[in-house]
Amino acid sequence: MTVTRFAPSPTGYIHVGNLRTALFNFLIARKQGGTFILRIDDTDPERSKEEYVDAIKQDLEWLGLTWDRVERQSDRLDRYADAADKYRDMGRFYEAFETPTELDLKRKKQLNMGKPPVYDRAALALSDDDKARLRTERGDGVWRFKLDQERIEWTDGILGDLSIDAASVSDPVLIRADGQVLYTLASVVDDTDMGVTHVVRGSDHVTNTATQIQMIHALGATAPAFAHHSLLTGPQGEALSKRLGTLSIRDLRARGIAPMALLSLMARLGSSQPVELRSSIDELIEGFDLSQFGSAPTKFDENDLLPLTAHVLQGTDYASVKDRIAAAGVPDDLAQAFWAVVRDNISVLDEVDGWWALMRDGADPLVDDEDADFIRAAMPMLPEEVDGDTWGQWTSAVKDATGRKGKGLFMPLRKAVTGRTNGPDMAALLPLLQVIKARTY
Ligand code: GLU
Repeated sequence: MTVTRFAPSPTGYIHVGNLRTALFNFLIARKQGGTFILRIDDTDPERSKEEYVDAIKQDLEWLGLTWDRVERQSDRLDRYADAADKYRDMGRFYEAFETPTELDLKRKKQLNMGKPPVYDRAALALSDDDKARLRTERGDGVWRFKLDQERIEWTDGILGDLSIDAASVSDPVLIRADGQVLYTLASVVDDTDMGVTHVVRGSDHVTNTATQIQMIHALGATAPAFAHHSLLTGPQGEALSKRLGTLSIRDLRARGIAPMALLSLMARLGSSQPVELRSSIDELIEGFDLSQFGSAPTKFDENDLLPLTAHVLQGTDYASVKDRIAAAGVPDDLAQAFWAVVRDNISVLDEVDGWWALMRDGADPLVDDEDADFIRAAMPMLPEEVDGDTWGQWTSAVKDATGRKGKGLFMPLRKAVTGRTNGPDMAALLPLLQVIKARTY
């Protein structure tokens, strides 16, 4: 059975980069009728915050990415201790006492000599007496996993055949000097215990994967299928890392982006398949194919979300937005007609406020000098009582009286009445206008 997981650390809000990971794992599980686990990677008690756990859940719920169960790493510390004991018993785990400054110095020396900055395993040569002495002098050491120095190979679901020389990677620290279990160990134990079959994550984890594959095998388990998606960049290929703070899911929600717009974009961006607006999660699941994704960095432009959201709104019925329209202050008797007129002319839902303000208060007329006489002649011909036929009747009367036609007739009237050059169909809009300031022009 397929089992996948999304494993955020609750140290901040999730953003578009995390969403890519969450979505791919979700879609794989759902496509194969499997299980999708929300795993909270909270082994760091200082940085992990309960408010972020709640926020992550809210954001996933808003998106419709439902999980089958939640697992928390902080509940599983015993399991990590067991695995650590196993590694110790099989001689794959050793204590090391270098200070961060010493490690830094070693790295600099290696780099100066043109060597990769890999931990030199000096701690392996320590006798029991050495260790006892160091422990007294410096306190407990860190615990490192001893990698087998061989090539680690796997076929990546996105990157294809990969081969990493374990000798080029430092033996990973799995337990800190203060006893805190690090993600690398916790994740291996969880993936093994929970029968995770597929792991999709960002390509910044490729080296982790190499070490984790050895660690999983050392526990006598089978490694899941790994796939690493490329990292997102801005539209010009620039690093997105600094801007991710403003690209949190809750920020996009606050800006009125529709969940299906976001999901539809993220399910296709960086793949050879075109971005298409999907109307449901089921459609997304059906159209998802991990093998279509490439290794090149993926350009993300948040502006692409606007036309997609506009499309979602065009297909949204009144019942779904009733409360939002009421909140904008639109009276009940006008609300349905208001939505019918406005929904094709907004790209995010919050724009209903601007449209209602325009209808309620009227707009300052926009009149070009060459149209001033024309508008002065046309406005008195607009009937007091306006209905769905008024625009047609008014414009044909104005046409007869002034000889203007086509764009030269319609555009100045639109601009005078709405103060804008674009907007909804005038015949439908006119009856909704509570005030027409141009009447007094
Ligand atoms: N907590 C890790 C992260 O957010 C999870 C990585 C993984 O998927 O294994 O980077």
